[in-house]
Amino acid sequence: MVEASEEAYSSLHRRFKGDLLRPGKSGYEDARTIWNGMVARAPGLIARCADVSDVQNAVRAASEIGILTAVRCGGHSLAGFSTCDGGMVIDLSRMRQVTVDPEARRARVTGGCLLGSIDTATQKAGLVFPSGVVSHTGASGLILGGGTGWLTRRFGLSCDNVEGFTLVTADSSVLRSNSRENPDLFWALRGGGGNFGVVTEFEVKLHPLTAVVLAEGLSPEANIRSLLEYWRDFMAEAPLDLKWNIDLRLAPQTKRVPVELRGRPVAGNSLVWTGDPAAGRSYLERALSMCTPDSVSSKIVSFLDLQTMADADFPHGRRYYTKSGYFTYLDDRSIDHMVEAVSTVPSSETQIELAYLGGAAARLAANETAFGDRSAPFIMNLLASWSEASADAGNISWIRGLFDRLRPAMKPGVYINFMSGDEQDRVSEAYQERWDRMVTVKSHYDPNNFFRLNQNVPPRKLAAKTS
Ligand SMILES: Cc1cc2nc3c(=O)[nH]c(=O)nc-3n(C[C@H](O)[C@H](O)[C@H](O)COP(=O)(O)OP(=O)(O)OC[C@H]3O[C@@H](n4cnc5c(N)ncnc54)[C@H](O)[C@@H]3O)c2cc1C
Repeated sequence: MVEASEEAYSSLHRRFKGDLLRPGKSGYEDARTIWNGMVARAPGLIARCADVSDVQNAVRAASEIGILTAVRCGGHSLAGFSTCDGGMVIDLSRMRQVTVDPEARRARVTGGCLLGSIDTATQKAGLVFPSGVVSHTGASGLILGGGTGWLTRRFGLSCDNVEGFTLVTADSSVLRSNSRENPDLFWALRGGGGNFGVVTEFEVKLHPLTAVVLAEGLSPEANIRSLLEYWRDFMAEAPLDLKWNIDLRLAPQTKRVPVELRGRPVAGNSLVWTGDPAAGRSYLERALSMCTPDSVSSKIVSFLDLQTMADADFPHGRRYYTKSGYFTYLDDRSIDHMVEAVSTVPSSETQIELAYLGGAAARLAANETAFGDRSAPFIMNLLASWSEASADAGNISWIRGLFDRLRPAMKPGVYINFMSGDEQDRVSEAYQERWDRMVTVKSHYDPNNFFRLNQNVPPRKLAAKTS
């Protein structure tokens, strides 16, 4: 592998405009780390591309040499797919441009952008692109997997708001894909992850919005069961303007939290209302009625503040492990399992994240894009976060144990961006009846599975060999 990465370096260094970072050289150590501290790998070469021709050259060199290749935008893959040991990383972090057309309400976003760079650029025109809730997340990985966030119910998933992709495919050619050009690929790229090539540009739709109402509150342990029962019924009838997320966890030991709740199991409620503030008041008041009064707040916040308020809660370099799934209905038994689990959680940063999709995301039929499940509105993410390697086993087994208890009530299916690296057996579950079509598109555009460090869809000839 060392020889292969040296060969790749020799093949690239004369014509490459970006940076070629190798072990022991300046800049390499910083460049090799990704967000999840559980994944510490040492690539043989990090090709930090300056433009599309650099991406083409890197793909061509890697494929000729046969070197294992990862593609990185923000490096937030929970599974750690954007790095590898010994191979090459195609790093897009120098390709961060957002070009907004305010009249057309459209933007062009290059493949290395973080969510924050999109928000900053689009807000200058009073517009938003619906994406995720932490601004240091990479846009490419998030959009290609689907992309859920505060605006999903109002404007749909991130991938639903993409009108065109430009990508470098495994044979190093540049392709455009939209509803007219390569429409099969257009279907697959909206939810299919990094399986089909390196996306160098997204053409996206924008929507007018500059501020929202943000309401928050903590429900004490005694109220969690009734809160979740209330939430599941309330959201089924809620307007598109309302997004209500719930995190079950131990309350932080901070001044902002009422003394009697600190360190105790709580349900953290975060509600975002995107419509007229006066029209939202009664919904927000009702939703927060099961919270401890001292913990409740409600205010108008700028869209940029909303998008960055959780940044510090998910720092780079901690250890993270996740398991996720959908529920058509959140039954009482599942609620019991969740409530019981919170009191045994091994880390105070670990959370059971619950969100209700529906709304605009559910308006598209299951077969219109590759994305996971649009029909089961409840999406759950069990996210463990801790700091010491010695605590790996306890945290991982807590997540796996709870997941196993909840699994019988879940609807088969999983959102690929909320999967860990040990769940390759669930990738076909993610696509279900869309699996054969995914394999067909993969077989056409990447027949040798060059792009395999992702929630991988093997091309047909390779799948046949291993079965
Ligand atoms: C702190 C945090 C918050 C999150 N919040 C949300 C959220 O609110 N909503 C949500 O839906 N998800 C969320 N996620 C999950 C997130 O969508 C995924 O982790 C996503 O993969 C991150 O994208 P990235 O570009 O940073 O990842 P990377 O690690 O860079 O890449 C992830 C995958 O995408 C591929 N890839 C990256 N760039 C490209 C490209 N240009 N072309 C082709 N393939 C590419 C990589 O090869 C890899 O397989 C969050 C994750 C984290 C860590």
